[in-house]
Amino acid sequence: MQKHSDFKDFTLITPTAAMSADTYGGRAKCLQRLIRLEMPVPTTIALSFACVKGIAAGQMPETSVLLSPFGQSPLLSVRPSSQDKDWGGPSAILNIGMNDARHVELINRLGDPLADRLYQRFIRSYAIHVARLDPDDFELPETPNRDTIKAALDAFDSEAGTPFPQNPQVQLAEVLRSMARAWEGTTARLLRQAKGAPADAGLGLVIQSMALGLGKAESGSGVIQFVDEITGEPLVKGRYLPQSQGRDALQADMPSMYLTKDSRGASLEEKLPNVFGDLLRHGAQGRQFLREEMQMEFCIQDGELLILDSVRLPRSSQAAVRIAVALADDGVIAQPEAVLRVEPRALNELLHRQVASTATRDPIARGIPASPGAACGKLVFSGTDAQAHAAQEEACILVRPETTPEDIRGMHAAQAVVTERGGMTSHAAVIGRGLGLPCIVGVSNWTLDVGAKTITTADGRVFSEGDLVTVDGTKGEVLAGQVPMREAALDNTFQTLLGWADQFRDIGVRANADTPADAVTARNFAAEGIGLCRTEHMFFEADRMSVMREMIFADSPEDRKASLDRLLPMQRADFLQLFDIMQGLPVCIRLFDPPLHEFLPSSREGMRELAEALDLALSDVTRRVEAVSEFNPMLGMRGVRLGLTIPEIYDVQSRAIFEATIAAARKGMVIVPEIMIPLVSAKREVEIVKKRIEAVAAAVRTETGADFDFKLGVMVETPRAALRAGDIAQHATFLSFGTNDLTQMTYGLSRDDAGRFMSSYVQQGVYPEDPFHTLDKDGVGELLQIGAERGRAARADVTLSICGEHGGTEDSIQFCRAAGFDYVSCSPFRVPVARLAAAQLAL
Ligand code: PEP
Ligand code: MG
Repeated sequence: MQKHSDFKDFTLITPTAAMSADTYGGRAKCLQRLIRLEMPVPTTIALSFACVKGIAAGQMPETSVLLSPFGQSPLLSVRPSSQDKDWGGPSAILNIGMNDARHVELINRLGDPLADRLYQRFIRSYAIHVARLDPDDFELPETPNRDTIKAALDAFDSEAGTPFPQNPQVQLAEVLRSMARAWEGTTARLLRQAKGAPADAGLGLVIQSMALGLGKAESGSGVIQFVDEITGEPLVKGRYLPQSQGRDALQADMPSMYLTKDSRGASLEEKLPNVFGDLLRHGAQGRQFLREEMQMEFCIQDGELLILDSVRLPRSSQAAVRIAVALADDGVIAQPEAVLRVEPRALNELLHRQVASTATRDPIARGIPASPGAACGKLVFSGTDAQAHAAQEEACILVRPETTPEDIRGMHAAQAVVTERGGMTSHAAVIGRGLGLPCIVGVSNWTLDVGAKTITTADGRVFSEGDLVTVDGTKGEVLAGQVPMREAALDNTFQTLLGWADQFRDIGVRANADTPADAVTARNFAAEGIGLCRTEHMFFEADRMSVMREMIFADSPEDRKASLDRLLPMQRADFLQLFDIMQGLPVCIRLFDPPLHEFLPSSREGMRELAEALDLALSDVTRRVEAVSEFNPMLGMRGVRLGLTIPEIYDVQSRAIFEATIAAARKGMVIVPEIMIPLVSAKREVEIVKKRIEAVAAAVRTETGADFDFKLGVMVETPRAALRAGDIAQHATFLSFGTNDLTQMTYGLSRDDAGRFMSSYVQQGVYPEDPFHTLDKDGVGELLQIGAERGRAARADVTLSICGEHGGTEDSIQFCRAAGFDYVSCSPFRVPVARLAAAQLAL
């Protein structure tokens, strides 16, 4: 065996030893801090990443040198010390050095039962973790004794083909080697890389003098923490188990003792008040100087307290927020650091109910996680059935091939929505996120039969209407049955943290809000305005849909006028309501952009209903539907194309906006409405619409004698609009990039159909990620950059923003911020995530 003689690769941890977490790992560094705080930490040696790498490659340090700080025949523990605890590491091995001679000695000191148990456990853990023998051959007997120990030693001999090593140096070397190699194993490597570890992530190891936790006077071990890991509330929590080692006290089947007096049964506080007091003192010291909420592992040896280890307390997202705020409030960390300590995406867990991490999952279908949160209910296969269930106050999950505005009521009635087709920006996804409703789209690993009201899973199981399922919209999985959930947990600390975040943020965050309810949510989450109000979404409700349909169906100018006359007061009231809710914050209203097919009935039943509603013959309705149907509706008469073809529609909407502005002014609000033209691809489109809107404004001013201001802007969502942004900006005070359509058109990828093959594309690495979910910075991003530059060159003060569904994601905020955008606009429920992510980028 090649010996390693380079001493700087391992070091005795002392207050002054030169060591960093990047060389020795987080655990070693943390132990040094505890030692500096003069906590009673047993003697510990730290092996660096380089040293452990050398061990894996066969370069073992001189074990006699490693053992020298620990005195005569010590017992030792070895624990992993990786750079980031989340990257895992091999299990700790305790009691290294245990052999026949120590066994006899311990029998004299502790008596047979404790000594036998300790030796038997060491043989077992060495056999399984170091010699990699079959655990079944080394079961732990209920009451170990000399016979069971002999049987285990014999089993080791026969299974390993060599006697159980009695030499502590050999034991230590083998433990170190097996831990070093385990880290290099393919499974361990893949697992940690999945958690973000770099390919060359290092493992350090710490060798510590074993605190036995066994002895005649009070001895044992335990774990203590000072806040609740789920809620983040301050409280002393933990367990202590007399005559035990390591984390034994945490094992569910151990009758361990609570720490504080107020818990049921005997407590450490009563039994050893001084030790308990020391634990509290060390805990407070640790929090103050490690600047973190920790969980401490301790041992009591013959009445003396030892601190063995301290790790960052694993915590829920709710606790993460509360802890960060409390640390800043107590002056332990500064506010910017508190803002940086919470993962923006983790806020989703606070905003929505989630499947509990402990739940047993039986996935029956997988798809694109389009809207986070979890819900449980009975399967239904139509919007009408969803409404019927809601009327009975029964929770239901709406499953559809895809959704259209006809399903809106059903979506409102359901607890979650699952669709077979669609992607991140399809109807169900956009509406689901808007409502804060868990939603999965693009499920391809099932057979959906809407007629028979069944789902057949890939493994042949059939689920029918009324069967209970759980939708995990955060992970994109439908689970069989009802599983335990964790409730959404918004509290004051969440608002506090976001309030701090806003002080550091240097890019605006608005919300996409179409309805009063959306606007209220947006305000509650402190959005700085509405960045996109999709006015056609104001007509999704069944009682209003008829107005939209009448307008689309009108054959003659008179009929159209009649439907527009109905539209005007509705829209005026809608806008006034939004202005009221937003209390003077900017509201950007997009003129109609209805993909016509979304507003037309698709079934015969739907056509019959429409015929009744419009008092027309069924054949008339079918004829009109055929006449306006398009082969490719997403590229058809949408947006400004409708506005130019039937200009009265935009006239009426603009009038409604201006009249609402005047009504708001009469109530004391100063509103400068922002009017946005969708799906523009040519400057001339903007010129024509602008001219008409200005004419409407002039007419309203004359009629009312009131003055008002407004801003006119353009949605940049076709590649041509991005390329011609210079021309377009001459007529637009703002440009808002609609990255949903821009992605669709840049890739030539249908936003409603791409879900079918997206996962296969991503798996094959064709796209690194779903571009409807993660902004494609190379292609679509270049168009954003070109659009922004050309727009700004033509009009230096043009306001730039993004309002596609990408607006709320961290990476697109980073992109938009770097490109000098003024704000991002996203679904109301994503506003908190965007506020935090934007602040972190600025810090
Ligand atoms: C877009 O295309 O990015 C957009 C926001 O508009 P919509 O999703 O309504 O097409
Ligand atoms: Mg669009």
